[in-house]
Amino acid sequence: MPIDRLYNHGLPLTGATTAYPLRVERVAVEAGIPICSHGPLADDPRSPIDSPLRPGYPAGVKSFASRIVHWHLRHGRHSLPWQATRDPYRIWLSEIMLQQTQVATVIPYFERFLTRFPDLPALAAAREDDVLALWSGLGYYSRARNLHAAARAVVADHGGAFPDAPDAIARLPGIGRSTAAAIAALAFGQPCAILDGNVKRVLARHGGIAGWPGDKKVEAALWTLAESLLPDTGIAAYTQGMMDLGALVCTRSQPDCPACPVRADCIARTQDRIGELPAPRPRKALPEKHVQMLLLLDRGELMLEKRPSRGIWGGLWSLPELAPDADAAGHCRERFGFITLARQALPRFTHSFTHFKLHIHPVQLQLVPRHGTPPGQIWLPLADALDAALPAPVRTLVRLIARQ
Ligand code: SF4
Repeated sequence: MPIDRLYNHGLPLTGATTAYPLRVERVAVEAGIPICSHGPLADDPRSPIDSPLRPGYPAGVKSFASRIVHWHLRHGRHSLPWQATRDPYRIWLSEIMLQQTQVATVIPYFERFLTRFPDLPALAAAREDDVLALWSGLGYYSRARNLHAAARAVVADHGGAFPDAPDAIARLPGIGRSTAAAIAALAFGQPCAILDGNVKRVLARHGGIAGWPGDKKVEAALWTLAESLLPDTGIAAYTQGMMDLGALVCTRSQPDCPACPVRADCIARTQDRIGELPAPRPRKALPEKHVQMLLLLDRGELMLEKRPSRGIWGGLWSLPELAPDADAAGHCRERFGFITLARQALPRFTHSFTHFKLHIHPVQLQLVPRHGTPPGQIWLPLADALDAALPAPVRTLVRLIARQ
């Protein structure tokens, strides 16, 4: 029985084909690549991706996509927790978590999230506070709010079934064109191009596209190139291969060109322009802001207040803020009716957002035992406060005073 039929029937692959792990073989089968007794035929000219060769490739040079897929089979990543699945929920969750965040950071968050919300209906039914608490520390909290809103939209508008068309996926909250394409390609085998930060770098270098990829015209050129390179078959393996090449080989500062499958016709390499491609974001000094944050303590409990749902740290539990040189004790008295027993300034530190720097001046205040809680605030024992949905710098401060 041919290997693809074995796979389609869910039978274990045995005998000589076990020279390669099952996952690799599955990718090979999806990509339409023949498998021999030694594993996928990395250089087999019969691969349907090479036949016929795309116009523009000289005789003997395989298409871009073919080289990416073959490289991915041998050298790509095959064991990340979101890879051995076609479940759109898991793929979507990983794609959102991986935005602006390293793989190693994402893995424990991904696993905790799935333990708590194993499928899309479970996420849709969750309270936003619980979703934000699981996201706490991962940053860019609008991702979590949009994830939650999108799960509810899939239940409300699609009967709980994740849409498979990239356009429909891109209409869900928090999902852009590239993320929608990645989900459509990896989960549903849809032939669409991705263009995340890593892929932009690979294509800018390989295609010699100058300029900052955030510029609209440069981005449009990269989309055109990305779409022109798509394979006829094996879109899932190709998509994963592009992601892996950008993450593992064509890295920002030290690309490993000798290990790159598309080095032969890479313009950046052949024209010695790797250092200039892609062009960096035009330098602009980030605005700087200063804020005083108050850690109000009463009998071992800390006061937190909920931030408005829109804006920085929207919907998270944070600390009262005021101007850095304002009178903290007077502010507590006037705003909350609290009397301060002791005041201690803690070390200042800086938290960087993409669009500004926030210099935080923390102040710890011990209060005379209070009567009542102002509306919009909660009091939590310090250990419990660490389980709440806190912005990363607030979590740092809570840990600091919990250790005292
Ligand atoms: S040859 Fe080098 S610069 Fe060109 S795509 Fe490959 S790793 Fe990147």
